[in-house]
Amino acid sequence: MKSLVCTAPGHFEFREDAFPEATHDMARIRLKRVGICGTDLHAFEGSQPFFSYPRILGHELSGVLTDTGGAEGFEPGETVTIMPYFSCGTCIACRTGKPNCCAAIKVFGVHIDGGMREEILVPVGSLLQGQGLNADELALVEPLAIGAHGVRRAGVQPGEYVLVIGAGPIGLGTMELARIAGAQVIALDINADRLRFCKEHLGVHAVVNGSGADAIGQVKAITNGDFPTVVVDATGNLKAINNGIQYLAHGGRYVLIGLQKEAFSFSHPEFHKRESTLMSSRNAVREDFEHVILNMKTGSIRPQTYITHTVAFDEVPEQFESWLNPATGVIKAMVQF
Ligand SMILES: [Zn+2]
Ligand SMILES: [Zn+2]
Repeated sequence: MKSLVCTAPGHFEFREDAFPEATHDMARIRLKRVGICGTDLHAFEGSQPFFSYPRILGHELSGVLTDTGGAEGFEPGETVTIMPYFSCGTCIACRTGKPNCCAAIKVFGVHIDGGMREEILVPVGSLLQGQGLNADELALVEPLAIGAHGVRRAGVQPGEYVLVIGAGPIGLGTMELARIAGAQVIALDINADRLRFCKEHLGVHAVVNGSGADAIGQVKAITNGDFPTVVVDATGNLKAINNGIQYLAHGGRYVLIGLQKEAFSFSHPEFHKRESTLMSSRNAVREDFEHVILNMKTGSIRPQTYITHTVAFDEVPEQFESWLNPATGVIKAMVQF
């Protein structure tokens, strides 16, 4: 079978591999879709921390089960997606119901080879039933589950103002899930096209261009002087993370979903006077995936609006680099098998 290997930053190579042999407790999936996300783009650029090469990318995927590996309730031939975070099951995080931040986590397509190949083997515990969703929709469950987890971590309540900084796919998903939780969502980005997308497709309450004059004043005015009680960083940009605290209401929660490599810092008095709660949000758990699937089934989330580019598996090496360029207007590129 064909595998697409990122051999070094900036380089892809197709490799001929043997089809994986099914074993007990490991399900075999024939790939249908792989979504491309920031993690993949950063890995290709060489700017992703903790990444080693060669590596097969791809962690947002859907496919058809060719062998269930003994997974209960699953049938060969059904369309599935997976939770691409493989946890140890024994560490303190796993023992306390937080396998998403397992001390020995292996993220499929990051720490171990992922889905850019014709067939994969994954632990049966990572499988999620398709529940009638199509292959495109199922490949979008994972990135949306990241937002669902952040919103749940923050304990977003109906009616409260939630500011989401960064309108990339993770930020957009966070806005959707915050809206579903009943929040009044404010989108902040420096890309006017992305902000327009938030307005037209996501039903956000307000948008603020961070590069414009007095973004802080605008957020203050939108919230009637209160500021948002939840601020979520979905940029993974150091400057944005350092500045985010300025948008936070007194008594509020500041949630970091995005990740970058440096130490962040902000004024202790600014943090302290708000009695701020600072939290990171890593990956997602089954409950978050199920929540996203349910909202796709009811139509509260329309994942198709995210897909701006589609490409055949064979053409990924030629197309991949262009998705690093914001001028292509890419939100979500989807690889078809
Ligand atoms: Zn992703
Ligand atoms: Zn663990």
